[in-house]
Amino acid sequence: MYDLVIKNGRLPDFEKDQLAVKDIAIKQGLIVDIGESIGSGKEIIDARGLIVSPGFIDIHMHEEVIGHSKDGDDYDIANKMLAMGVTTAVGGNCGNNRQNTKDFMDFVENKGAPINYLTYIGHNFLRNQLGIDPYEPATKSQIEKMKEQVKIAIDQEGSIGISFGIEYSPGITYDELVEIGGAYEGQALLSAHYRRDADGAIESIKEMINISKDTKKPMQIAHIGSCSAFGHMKASLELIQKARNEGLSIAGDCYPYDAFSTRIGSAVFDDGCFQTWNKSYDSILLTEEPYKGKYCDEQLFKKARKEYPQMLAVAFVMNELEVIEALQAPFIYVASDALMNKGQGHPRGAGTFPRVLGKYVREQGNLTLLDALKKMTYLPAQRLGLNQKGQVKEGMDADLVIFDENRIIDRATFTEPAQAPRGIEYVIVKGNIGMKKGQMIHSRLGTLIKRQTLKG
Ligand SMILES: [Zn+2]
Repeated sequence: MYDLVIKNGRLPDFEKDQLAVKDIAIKQGLIVDIGESIGSGKEIIDARGLIVSPGFIDIHMHEEVIGHSKDGDDYDIANKMLAMGVTTAVGGNCGNNRQNTKDFMDFVENKGAPINYLTYIGHNFLRNQLGIDPYEPATKSQIEKMKEQVKIAIDQEGSIGISFGIEYSPGITYDELVEIGGAYEGQALLSAHYRRDADGAIESIKEMINISKDTKKPMQIAHIGSCSAFGHMKASLELIQKARNEGLSIAGDCYPYDAFSTRIGSAVFDDGCFQTWNKSYDSILLTEEPYKGKYCDEQLFKKARKEYPQMLAVAFVMNELEVIEALQAPFIYVASDALMNKGQGHPRGAGTFPRVLGKYVREQGNLTLLDALKKMTYLPAQRLGLNQKGQVKEGMDADLVIFDENRIIDRATFTEPAQAPRGIEYVIVKGNIGMKKGQMIHSRLGTLIKRQTLKG
């Protein structure tokens, strides 16, 4: 008798590039049999007409601050991720850990989590801990200290690699990046947020490729959509393709929105920003009172910046066609870049994966279902060395998402960013049901995944 049997679902096979109707048997967290009429289970799900995909793997998100959620549950963000079909996620991106990695990892390890978590050690986080001015380069001795911390975080704590947030600390020199990126001698993944977006995108990508070359480590380029979709996507993708042709391990991720979100008082909105983006004041939506839901004109924009600099604003400034172009590139994965504060933030944290499947696969036909699923499962699993995940096959972890391809769609919006999607029937983590028809059944099925357990 199996623990769980899923009958009649349509399973993706990425190697054969096809969907096939089969039953799946699960025992002790693993897929143990796939076929027809495979026997019975303590629990049976009839998935007739539904897709049974590997659980989505979000290679780029930002973990929660433990102890700060609105509802008293520590997993403010991971709960939303589970609801959109994510079963494994990587935090600590863009150079930033939202708390000490050891504190976060110990918490996940001891208490469990809604999803499986991995984390990077963030360069900017280490800089902040040493009190280094973001506009100043680090000194030799500060770099040595950070290198020691990187080694501890990877070797002893189990971080999977190093993330950089170059734009956030303009004082970072190229040499500092290579020193820190090369601090750990074994295999580790690097990830970086551009030094400059829009008209600085190409130079920034060149820098990231050079870091990979000089450290001999794979490089994951962060959220290419929000940094290159200003008339620079074609050249950005060509540059990455060229580096890959030369044998370098460069890939990237993209969230499926043509808007980013940040505080209206931020330097992002300083003079000249609209020329850079080739957009005007009416591309900015204010999301908090007294201007909640209002698009700007020149007067409102200036007033909000002056009087309410902390207000979250949404900038619809990227070109959607270029975001689609990125999502279509074979080396760009779907990832959320999720970041929320007490349920507030950009809807990508609750909508990314269903949005790609609903809007860009079903409604617009920009991607095939199999190609989209591959970018959400198989490719990030391979990239991370998660050789037990990312495919529906015998012997793999039973992390699965069961959804209706005809109904799946995001419902999170810029004014209600935490809304759960539609069309996801079950989310299964390690053979147990975490979500069933939008209801959380079990919220601590996920575990901490350390680098030491990864392949390569
Ligand atoms: Zn970033």
